[in-house]
Amino acid sequence: MTMYRAEDSRYETMRYRRSGKSGLRLPEISLGLWHNFGGYDAFENGREIVLRAFDRGITHFDLANNYGPPPGSAESFFGAMMDASLRPYRDELIVSTKAGYTMWDGPYGDWGSRKYLVASCEQSLRRMKLDYVDVFYHHRPDPETPLEETMGALDYLVRSGKALYAGISNYGSEDTKRAAIILRELGTPCVIHQSRYSMLDRRVEGGLTGVLADEGIGGIWFSPLAQGLLSDRYLSGSIPAGSRASKSVFLKPDRLTPALVDKLNRLGDVAKGRGETLARLAIKWLLRNPATTSVLLGASSVAQLDENLRALEGTPLAESELSMIEDILAMPE
Ligand code: NDP
Repeated sequence: MTMYRAEDSRYETMRYRRSGKSGLRLPEISLGLWHNFGGYDAFENGREIVLRAFDRGITHFDLANNYGPPPGSAESFFGAMMDASLRPYRDELIVSTKAGYTMWDGPYGDWGSRKYLVASCEQSLRRMKLDYVDVFYHHRPDPETPLEETMGALDYLVRSGKALYAGISNYGSEDTKRAAIILRELGTPCVIHQSRYSMLDRRVEGGLTGVLADEGIGGIWFSPLAQGLLSDRYLSGSIPAGSRASKSVFLKPDRLTPALVDKLNRLGDVAKGRGETLARLAIKWLLRNPATTSVLLGASSVAQLDENLRALEGTPLAESELSMIEDILAMPE
């Protein structure tokens, strides 16, 4: 493996947006390591994607304790990347991780107790070979643990220097409001909310995005391409070999109904009319929303990443295009 030296041009084209009212600025496109960077994936492919991302100004890499498979292996991959290539650039990186889903056996390896969050953060730091993470999230709301305890654990992690910022993920509007108030009172503001948002899943609009604006919390959107559905990959209506729909339990082939394929093709035509791909259109559509701090993409190849980064080029969507998209999105799937 040759020594890595980051591209001198890495900050020339990427734009950065402030996360809510905080001092933290994130790239308009961030990279998530949920799929493709685990213990069963090719290390070299993951390495090339991460380094290409950093070379293009993607300073933010998103992980969670359970990413892999097996759980923990995406963080171990990232730790190996730190050792091999990224350590000299630590101060240019925003690395996030999370705890909230099942991670280890017994009563302390899941949900939202202080015991789980603090132990999990320690484990994540060891796997990623980091002294601190930049953002630590509670990954999903816990209906049984008092919110005060879970937010208290985030506050503790920030105060103890294990994390620089606190975030929440998959919280609904009401819980987000309550969490924001508790954290503010503790003196550790909630700076970021990670939620699913794409042309095919607009549940955050109105409710959650309103709360984020009111509370000064940034919005970072996961599965912005609906796990790849919003790309040219599935327009033929079949499932390409090696695609996520061919192998992941999180995207089942029966999601690709004829009505959805029709909708994707109509969206693809709007993209074509602009000389763009569906993936670029889907990313641009999210970036035009003022509630967006960052679009959190996945990628299984450098070619996909490069293609997606082209969403930062060209003209923004015109009102006429937005209203065409709105009509298409209103169609049944
Ligand atoms: P996307 O919607 O961006 O899907 C990424 C997948 O789409 C890729 O792995 C690839 O799949 C396909 N793809 C990407 N670009 C292209 C392209 N240009 N052409 C064709 N196919 C393309 O996001 P993810 O669902 O991967 O989520 C992104 C990140 O969000 C995660 O890594 C994670 O960090 C975070 N996340 C957080 C969650 C939470 O609960 N907080 C939950 C889920 C994700 P392939 O090539 O394999 O078909």
